[in-house]
Amino acid sequence: MNVNERIRAAEERLRGMFDKIDEIALFNQEKVLKAFQEERIALRHFLPSTGYGYGDEGRDTLGRVYARAFGAERAIVSPALLSGTHALTVALFGVLRPNDRVLCITGMPYDTIRGVIWGENNGSLKEFGVSFDMIGLNADDKADFSAIGRALSETNYRMIYIQRSRGYELRDAFTVDEIGEMCAFVRENGFEGCIFVDNCYGEFVETREPTEVGADLIVGSLIKNPGGGIAPTGGYIAGKGEYIGQVEYRLTAPSVGGEIGSYAYGYQQFYQGFFLAPHVVAQAVKGGLLIGVCLEELGYRNFPSADKLPSDITRAVRFDTEKQLTDFIQSVQDCSPVDSFVHLEAWDMPGYDCKVIMAAGCFVQGASIELSADAPIREPYTAYFQGGLTYEHCKIALKKVLSRLLGE
Ligand SMILES: *Cc1c(COP(=O)(O)O)cnc(C)c1O
Repeated sequence: MNVNERIRAAEERLRGMFDKIDEIALFNQEKVLKAFQEERIALRHFLPSTGYGYGDEGRDTLGRVYARAFGAERAIVSPALLSGTHALTVALFGVLRPNDRVLCITGMPYDTIRGVIWGENNGSLKEFGVSFDMIGLNADDKADFSAIGRALSETNYRMIYIQRSRGYELRDAFTVDEIGEMCAFVRENGFEGCIFVDNCYGEFVETREPTEVGADLIVGSLIKNPGGGIAPTGGYIAGKGEYIGQVEYRLTAPSVGGEIGSYAYGYQQFYQGFFLAPHVVAQAVKGGLLIGVCLEELGYRNFPSADKLPSDITRAVRFDTEKQLTDFIQSVQDCSPVDSFVHLEAWDMPGYDCKVIMAAGCFVQGASIELSADAPIREPYTAYFQGGLTYEHCKIALKKVLSRLLGE
């Protein structure tokens, strides 16, 4: 079979799955549209503000649109949240106090969060007297409920920490149902504190968010799913009003909280990106599945399996050799709309114990809702890729990848 025939066969195989993804996108699009209408969004909400930003309607209403769509009481959506890691940090420091204990029940947290939790001489949670215990996943890469039950009976925790997406692990993202089971389980075991979810890469992949199944706070980045490829920067924190209030005091200052915050460029891109996000996320999920199925047919294992609906937009692929791995990443770069002419080199990225190679030919720097791929150069040779603003773009990149692998 040549490349085009392979892609056509994969699309045939994925037809039923794609129908389901289209249904999810339709449901989420209606949910977002309804939130816009209920908040009576008008052109004035897009206007810039300056200085303190007292009474900035664009800012406040954007938070309410997110809250409605995510089934949350309140939300902070802000260009002053500089990345996903920053949004997670502000939310953690907003809710936690010295001597509080956190229990992470989904294994090792994402790389950039580890320094926030355990870092030395950097103002980490640890230095402020917050301790963080972690329970590894069981042999099936699922939450270890008996170990969680034991930990909860022994220690009085203030926060349960859950990470939805895989990060650089091979495990699949947790589904919203699975997160709901975790929430129910800790409540049944008497936990009364805050259930916190790192929701990065998960938004709009399913019809519900963790806030609709028992989570108290969810956090994510606007240069991933909810920004729809349009938001130029920013993050969001959504959930229980009581916790959002505490986080506002940390985001700004304990005396002013959510009363301040301006944005001189205006909020149109944040609104429009959120409106587009359900569709863009579906494009990324379909594109990822197509690439996954074609690579699987060639013998390259990838995760999650193409037989189940994903719960995030990321995909991990195992290659046999370093050359295949770097060829894959370079092919993604070659097919990018921006910096397509760049020859990639692996580099010593801060926080990693080996070289990392990255393809990110994006409109928004580092945006991983756009087609992007990266890999630590070490065995097992695993590439992580995500995004794709359009399904067609994913398909074009796939053609290049397959042609290289097949030597066509
Ligand atoms: C992307 C991501 C983050 C935050 O990363 P930033 O690069 O700081 O936006 C946190 N957790 C997970 C699971 C992620 O995928």
